[in-house]
Amino acid sequence: MTLREYCGVFGVFAPGEDVARLTFYGLYALQHRGQESAGIASANGRRLYVRTGMGLVSQVFDEEDLSYLPGHMAIGHTRYSTTGCSGAENAQPCLVEVEPGGLALGHNGNIVNAAVLRADLEEQGVTFSTGTDSEVIAQLLVHAPGTTWQERWHEVMRRAKGAYSLVALTPSELMAARDPMGNRPLCLGRIDGGWVVASETCAFDHLGATFVREIEPGEAIRITSEGVESYQAHEPKSAFCIFEYIYFARPDSVIDGKLVYPVRMGLGAQLAREQPADADVVIGVPDSGTVAAVGYARESGIPLVEGFVKNRYIGRTFIQPDQRLREVGVQLKLNPLPELLQGRRVVVVDDSIVRGTTTPRVVAMLRKAGAKEVHMRITAPPIVSPCFFGIDFGTRWELIAGRMKDVEEIRQHIDADSLGYLSVEGMLEAVGLPKDKFCLACFTGDYPIPVPLQMDKLALEPTIPGDRLRLELTDTVSTTPPRP
Ligand code: SF4
Repeated sequence: MTLREYCGVFGVFAPGEDVARLTFYGLYALQHRGQESAGIASANGRRLYVRTGMGLVSQVFDEEDLSYLPGHMAIGHTRYSTTGCSGAENAQPCLVEVEPGGLALGHNGNIVNAAVLRADLEEQGVTFSTGTDSEVIAQLLVHAPGTTWQERWHEVMRRAKGAYSLVALTPSELMAARDPMGNRPLCLGRIDGGWVVASETCAFDHLGATFVREIEPGEAIRITSEGVESYQAHEPKSAFCIFEYIYFARPDSVIDGKLVYPVRMGLGAQLAREQPADADVVIGVPDSGTVAAVGYARESGIPLVEGFVKNRYIGRTFIQPDQRLREVGVQLKLNPLPELLQGRRVVVVDDSIVRGTTTPRVVAMLRKAGAKEVHMRITAPPIVSPCFFGIDFGTRWELIAGRMKDVEEIRQHIDADSLGYLSVEGMLEAVGLPKDKFCLACFTGDYPIPVPLQMDKLALEPTIPGDRLRLELTDTVSTTPPRP
């Protein structure tokens, strides 16, 4: 699997507690959602303090950084870039300097009309310091008409189209909001003396916080010393990203009342029913296919073995492989165990094939380790259409299932003995929630809102040379692009 995670957001309001440290640990639990950069902003009722940097949470913050972040409330962000380049200037929380005291904002997701909104704001004299759609949302929030926080959120949700789970901090208030689709997760929890907000419930578990509820699609909340106020800023139109269950969320998180681990096992079991294989062993591609492989093995009766050992210490920002190592790519992360694979017919379970660059290497490694047959099984349907809501595949032509004519052609490309995907119906059955709750666009091409014909992750970045912005305003479509 080479889907990139997007971002994790966290917020805490807890007078008397070390909120910077709580945020640090909250981000630590959300590290799987983004490894490029991390940041924390805190507030003490009078002003904001912000620290951001490139790398993993543990690389960005030390004791000195945490001690620089005083106050009784904080927000945090861990980032994988989906709009804007991955430079330090785009690390979040992004800070907007307005009176009184500014606003810091952390964003998970992607808005599809950022270029138009940015152009509008610039016409009003607003200047931008980053190339992210997150700064566009922050500027929209602070420049929205109206005097109350509810009016400002109403304006943001009326105008910003796309996916956004947000945490925002002013010197005196912590706010959080979820787009009307509820495309990304966002939860509210209780901690001693205060409140926490996080992308996933696993962050609450690590802090000893208790889950209260999910923030609803189209809802904004404000947390002050008076408590939590809620405002339904926009009518909801549920389109939750089903990939959270398949891959993104941690297996120990609960989404919509369902623990992700058994859902992932159920996806593997459903796959075994739909795509059986004559084989001797089942293995999962770590970590993304591991849980589903358990489900596949149980349902099929084929023994599960640990065919790969994963090197868990390969970090995107930590190791920049040279060209030779880049070519071996996946071997840096995975090492097969020949003793368990030699002469065996192997079922390999993974959660997706995106561009088709990693999977052939996985198959080749297994063959080299002695596997007699390799049967690839995928716990999702083929990804045929791009995601405009924050997952890093921007065009149909990047997607192997978008550019190849059928599963057989993909099988030949990855050089497996057989290849089987889960059906859309089987995936929904395994997740066990109604179809109309979900965004399924990357499998069906049917988008929950109008989307651009194509999207450039760097569209808001200044071009070189000069500072002219590359604002490519594309037409919008809401229908399935034709298959080539
Ligand atoms: S298009 Fe796919 S990856 Fe993107 S939000 Fe929808 S389901 Fe998730």
